[in-house]
Amino acid sequence: MNNIYLYRNLDRFSFFLYNKDGDKMEIIIGSHVSFKSDDQLLGSLKEALSYGANTFMFYTGAPQNTKRCELNDNMTLEALKLMKENSIDLRNIIVHAPYIVNPANNANREFSINFLRQEIDRVERLGITKIVLHPGSHVGIGSEQGIKNIIDVLNATILSDTKVDICLETMAGKGSECGRTFEEIKKIIDGVVYKDKVKVCLDTCHINDAGYDLNEFDRIIDDFDNIIGIDKLACLHINDSKNIMGSHKDRHENIGFGQIGFNNLMKVLYHPKLKDIPKILETPYIAVDDKTKYPPYKFEIEMIRNKKINDNLLEDVKKYYEKKDS
Ligand code: FE
Ligand code: FE
Ligand code: ZN
Repeated sequence: MNNIYLYRNLDRFSFFLYNKDGDKMEIIIGSHVSFKSDDQLLGSLKEALSYGANTFMFYTGAPQNTKRCELNDNMTLEALKLMKENSIDLRNIIVHAPYIVNPANNANREFSINFLRQEIDRVERLGITKIVLHPGSHVGIGSEQGIKNIIDVLNATILSDTKVDICLETMAGKGSECGRTFEEIKKIIDGVVYKDKVKVCLDTCHINDAGYDLNEFDRIIDDFDNIIGIDKLACLHINDSKNIMGSHKDRHENIGFGQIGFNNLMKVLYHPKLKDIPKILETPYIAVDDKTKYPPYKFEIEMIRNKKINDNLLEDVKKYYEKKDS
């Protein structure tokens, strides 16, 4: 009963949240934020607002484990009200599944299925419509078998009444990662029964490291469209890369400070075909010393909105948060 009540409210809110004309031209940009048991979605939203973001992504608990707190529906409703006040559309908000879930390896089959089902329930209860999932690593059994396993887990997880979309993330090809090419992602989607509920999250650092040339992003988009279909693209992870194209490393760098570069990332961010897709920064925190590091997102979002690189990014971040701390 409680759940039905909440869903009615979520519908009511999302109706008001969607601003059909107002925000049309504005870039949908945010970052990874935290989700803590004591303030939950409300805390995540407030963190995103402190960065000047109009969307965000979070793990519903620690990314490296599956311990999850009890959801507090009142807190969710409070967050939805604050979203409405800030014209943030719930449908642009993303949850990232924990990266210890590895659907490519069947040793963990039951665990992956059970955890993903639980996570889908949690995400639906929050009213969120998109979960990003790493396809996983086959760890020696070969990518063909890995892909079969991924399909098997997705088919056991995505049911006819599943409301959220599972967004498979394009991977860098580190180790034995599956999903390093658009062809591999397409193969996975093709095997899923409810394939309308499988979408894609394109990560700029990962595709660079996988060997896609971001100097020619239009070509990448055409490839994506031909192989998977552009309508499947549901989320973008915007990261620079510490490593060169094809390095298969997966080490994110701050926007404009890596091998992809500011101009290439701007082309992704402002690509007319990607206008309505939420863009999420997962760039590294700026470390001051061993104990202290600060989030770069407020300043990276500013730089993206201004369409101009801030060469003093690192110093500005430190100055801003040091002042706040003192
Ligand atoms: Fe990811
Ligand atoms: Fe990513
Ligand atoms: Zn990554």
